Order: sequence, then C-alpha cells, then structure tokens
Amino acid sequence: MDLSYILNQLGEDRHQYYNAVSPPLIQTSNFAFDTVAAMKEAFTDEQKHSIYTRGNNPTTTMLSQKIAALEGTEDCLVLASGAAAISIAVISQLKAGDHVVCVKHPYSWAFHLFTEILPRFGISTTFVDGCETENFKLAILPNTRLFYLESPTTMYLELQDLTAVCLLAKSNQIKTIIDNSYCSPLGQQPAKFGVDLVIHSATKYINGHSDVVAGVICGSSVLIRKIYLSEYLNFGAICSPWNSWLMLRSLRTLPLRIRQSSESGQKVVSYLASHPKVARVYYPHHPSHPQSLLAQKQMSIPMGMFSIELNTKDEASIVRFCEGLNYFLMAVSWGGHESLIMPACAFGSKSELPINFIRFYIGLEEADILIQDLEAALVLI
Ligand SMILES: *Cc1c(COP(=O)(O)O)cnc(C)c1O
Repeated sequence: MDLSYILNQLGEDRHQYYNAVSPPLIQTSNFAFDTVAAMKEAFTDEQKHSIYTRGNNPTTTMLSQKIAALEGTEDCLVLASGAAAISIAVISQLKAGDHVVCVKHPYSWAFHLFTEILPRFGISTTFVDGCETENFKLAILPNTRLFYLESPTTMYLELQDLTAVCLLAKSNQIKTIIDNSYCSPLGQQPAKFGVDLVIHSATKYINGHSDVVAGVICGSSVLIRKIYLSEYLNFGAICSPWNSWLMLRSLRTLPLRIRQSSESGQKVVSYLASHPKVARVYYPHHPSHPQSLLAQKQMSIPMGMFSIELNTKDEASIVRFCEGLNYFLMAVSWGGHESLIMPACAFGSKSELPINFIRFYIGLEEADILIQDLEAALVLI
C-alpha cells in the first residue's frame, strides 16, 4: 500500500458523509440501534461494531486504520497518551511472577512503570545495555516474558539490533514491545524485524503540531483484539474523537514534516559536530556514533532529534547559551513544528545526565536560521 493512498484515502468513505473531502468529527459517546436484533448483533462482537466511544468511534477507527498501515501491522489502537499506550501494552503481556528485560535509559514513565508500579504486582525488571544483544540473553530468567525496547532511546540515542533481539526473544517465547516514537512509522517499521507490539507517543511526530497528547499500540489482529477486549476497554484511556480528528488532519502532512525535520536535523548536527564549543554529539546517523552502521541498516531516515555535550561544565555559561537562543524554545516533548532544547542543567540534582548535556529537537524552521541562532548563542559560552 503506498503512502499517498494511506494518507489520503484509506479508511475514508466520502459517500457516507455528503462527499465531504475532510472526514466528519463524530463527537458522540454512544450509538443507537433501530431494532433489538441490530443491538444483539452488535453485542456479539464489540470490536467490530460502534456501540460506545470507549470502545469504537468512527473518527478514531479511521485514524487507527491509517496508522496500522503506516506501521505495516494488521491493527492499531489509539489511546489518550503515549504513556497510556506503554502501560496498557506492557500490562497486557504480564502477570504476577513475570520478569521483564528492559533497555537502560527508556522513556522516564516507562522506567517508572517498571520500577515503581509493576513491582507492587510481583513483576520484576532487569535493565540492560541494549547496544549488545548478548546482554538480553544474559538477563533471561525462566520467568522472563517480555523484552521492552526503545531504539534509539531519546536522550542517549542508543540502538538495539532489532532483528537479533527479536530472534532471541522468539526462540525463548518472549514477547517484544518497542517504543518507536523517535523514528515515526516513516523512519522505522519494527514489525518488519519481528517486534510484536509497536507503540508511539503520537503527541510527537504523528500529531506534530504541539496541540494533542495521544498514543498508539500497533500489532497483529490477534494481539490487538486481546488488548482491545480487556485492558483497552477496562482502563478506558481512549483518544477523544476530536483529538483523533486533529491527528487525521496532521497525517496529511506527515511525510513533509518528517522530511523537513530530518533534513534540517542533519544540517544542524553537522554544524554542531564540527564546532569547537561542542564536545560530543549523540546522533545515530553521524559517523561518530558507535552504532551508525546499525542505524543505516534498520532506520530508513535520519530523524530530527539528537543530544550534545557542550565543551564546558560551567553552569553559568551553559545557562547563557540556553537563554541566548531565540528560535529554539526551552521545553519538554518534541515532534512539533517548533525547535526545542531540553538542557540537563534544568533537571536538578536527581538527574544522572552530565550538566553540559542538552537534547535538541529540530522542527520545521529553515536550517540556516537555526544555525545562525546557534552561532550567536555559542559566542555567549
Ligand atoms: C513523550 C514520549 C512518551 C510519552 O508520551 P505521552 O504522549 O507524553 O504520554 C513515550 N516515549 C517517548 C520516547 C516519548 O518521547
């Protein structure tokens, strides 16, 4: 299925809504039936029928069909946040007594789930350096049921060899879940490498306009149906029809947004990597990255997020640099139209990141303008 078809046609049926080009927003909580027989029929399969918006809503269904196609999976669930997608996907695969192997430095709320919440239900987790597949193998216990992956991780940009890790998992009857937010479905399709469940914070590239919080879980029809009929309906962390509608609109420009973020990202990385005031860049497609060959193998496009270490540990200089930037906003999150920095010096003493560490996200501005902005701020160090 080609990208244009997915983004412009798939799941849309204009004859059902006055031939309108833009699909309607079905802002309703429930759906009425004309006959007892029709209602009875709907109850025979709650996943197939629109009964109540905590289950199905046509606006959200249209979006989920497109995202499943983008990820190359059979089905997809759209949720209220990326954190909900992570929690529901993970919990759906585990029971008391199980063990998880997770990459070190995962997204912070995934870390919290594994270290604070799941232990209360008798589920333990071992964190491993995912750069070496061998580390997953060494961590497997008789009760290991899940490998939790994030490739690359979004602070240190560390990759896992997805083909090798999935082979290892399958040969031990272990399920795999990946957080694929960094790459977007256009930059990496983990299901092709054998990953069972692919999640995204759709807040980031998929929505891309810094105005919606949402998440998705993609996988086979069998796995998604099981999650739908249990955790999805029960936890109720659904995406509102309005947010689904906004994301349908966002998807029309996904390839353009990704291309711009990617091209500008590469230019800004090249500029910073050769600047004397930058000690190190963390970027999978930069030759200085220890896994750049693996990145080229499994990620189809270099993306727009990276980290750097400045060539100073003087906090006042780092603060002057951060506050001297005019085009980069200082904020959490990423994936929108606006370029961002997230400096480790703002995290306080709990953070294990070095003080001179800064995460950058490159949005849709012209690369030259961003580089001029950096040039001027680097003088302040
Ligand atoms: C933001 C983010 C999440 C969480 O998503 P929300 O939509 O904020 O709940 C998960 N993983 C990664 C990599 C993220 O950047």
